[in-house]
Amino acid sequence: MSDIKVRFAPSPTGNLHVGNLRTALVNYLFARAAGGVFMLRIDDTDTERSTPEFEASIRADLDWMGMSWDTEDRQSARLDRYDEALRQLEAIGRAYPCFETPEELALKRKAQLSAGRPPVYDRAALKLTDEQKQAFQAEGRRPHWRFRLEDTEVAWTDMVRGDVSYHMSSLSDPVLMREDGRVIYTMASVVDDIDHGITHIIRGEDHVTNSAAQIQLFEALGATAPVMGHVALLAGADGEGLSKRLGSLSIGQLRDEGTEASALASLLARIGTADPVVPTADMAAIIGGFDLSRFGRATAKFDPAELAQVNARIVQQLDFDAVSPRLSDLGVGGDADFWMAVRDNLSSVAEAADWWQVCTTPITPVIEAADVTTAAAGLLPDGDLSSDIWGSWTKAVAAETGAKGRGLFMPIRLALTGREKGPEIAPLLAFIGRERIIARLRGETA
Ligand code: GLU
Repeated sequence: MSDIKVRFAPSPTGNLHVGNLRTALVNYLFARAAGGVFMLRIDDTDTERSTPEFEASIRADLDWMGMSWDTEDRQSARLDRYDEALRQLEAIGRAYPCFETPEELALKRKAQLSAGRPPVYDRAALKLTDEQKQAFQAEGRRPHWRFRLEDTEVAWTDMVRGDVSYHMSSLSDPVLMREDGRVIYTMASVVDDIDHGITHIIRGEDHVTNSAAQIQLFEALGATAPVMGHVALLAGADGEGLSKRLGSLSIGQLRDEGTEASALASLLARIGTADPVVPTADMAAIIGGFDLSRFGRATAKFDPAELAQVNARIVQQLDFDAVSPRLSDLGVGGDADFWMAVRDNLSSVAEAADWWQVCTTPITPVIEAADVTTAAAGLLPDGDLSSDIWGSWTKAVAAETGAKGRGLFMPIRLALTGREKGPEIAPLLAFIGRERIIARLRGETA
C-alpha cells in the first residue's frame, strides 16, 4: 500500500446526487489506482440538518456502487479535538472572539456594498478591549470565533487547475466556531485532514476559496496542507448548470429508473476529460483507466441521454450470472436462455421482466395481416420450439401466403408480442409456448 490517503466527506443532510457521487468516485478511483487508502468521513456537525437516514442512504449508495472504503470517522465524535484546535489557534493569536449579531454583520455588509467596497469582514472585533468584551459577555452575548488570515498570497499547484493563487485580503476571516459552540466545517475539516493523515484533497471547484483559507489554517496548526485538486462542476448537456431535476436527482432514483452502478462509474470517471467513455461493468478496468491529470478545468457535461446509452451498452454485455439474483427478484424465469434471448434488446435489466410478462402472461395480439398469421398458426411445426424451427416455419408461411420481408415477419411479431419492436422472436417461441403461440396467431387474447 502506498502512503496516499484521500477521503470522501459527505454531509448527511441530503441524498447523494450525481455531483457528489462524482467527487466520491474520483477519490475512490484515485486511491485505488495508487494503491492508497480511501476514507469515508461523515461531516455531521450540522446537527439540525444531519439525519441517520441520510447517512444510511449515502452508505447504501456507496455500497451499491461497489466503492468500499478502508476506514471511516465522523466529525460528531471529534468535537473535543476541534475545541482543542481552537484553543491552539487562540494561543498563537490566530483565532479571535467576535460579538456581532447576524443582523449587525448584515448591516455592515450592506454599507460596504453601497459604498462600492467588497463585503469583507472589517475585523472590528480585533480592536475590542477586554472591558468591551466583558461588557458583551455581561449582556449575555457569547462570542463566535474567527480565524485571522494572514494578509499574504496563498498559492498552490492544483492537480486539476494548475497554478492557483489568492490574495487573502479579498477574503473575510472565516468563522471557525459559532456562538453556540458548534464548529464550522472550515476548521473541522482541516483538523480531521491533519489527524487522519490525508495526503490529497480532491473535491469540487466550489471549494477553491475555502482551500485558500484552509491552507493557512493547516499551517497555523503546524501542518502542511495536503495536495489539492478541484474538479470542475457538472453542467447539463447544454453547458448550463445541471437542471433542477438532474441536480437534485438522487442516486437512489437513478437506480430505481434502471441505471447500473457501472454505467454511472463508467461515465462519471470520464466526463470532464478528453478521453472517451468506455462502458464497462468491470470496476478494475475503470480504476486502471483513471488518471486525475486528464481532468480539465472546463465544466463537465453530464448528459442523461449519454448515461442511458452507456447503461444499455453495459446491460447488453452482462452475463447471466451477474444478473441472475436480480432476475429472480423481478420474477423473471427462463434462466440463462431467456436472458440471452432478450439481453441485446434491453436498456435496463428490469426490462427483462416486461418481456417475461409478454411471453408468459396473456396479451392481446395485434393482427395486421390475418392471412399471414392464420397460415403461421396452421404451419407451426410439431415438436419442440427451439430457435431452429424459425427458418423452416417462416419459409413455409412465405410459400403459402406469398408474404416476405416485413410483410411476413411483422405480422408474426405483432401477433405474438403485441409490439412492433423487441428481441428476436425465434428464441422467445419456447417461452411463449405452443398453445399461446397458436391462440395469439388466431387473434385470441392468450
Ligand atoms: N462536507 C463537505 C462537503 O460536502 C466536504 C468538503 C470537503 O471535501 O472538504 O462539501
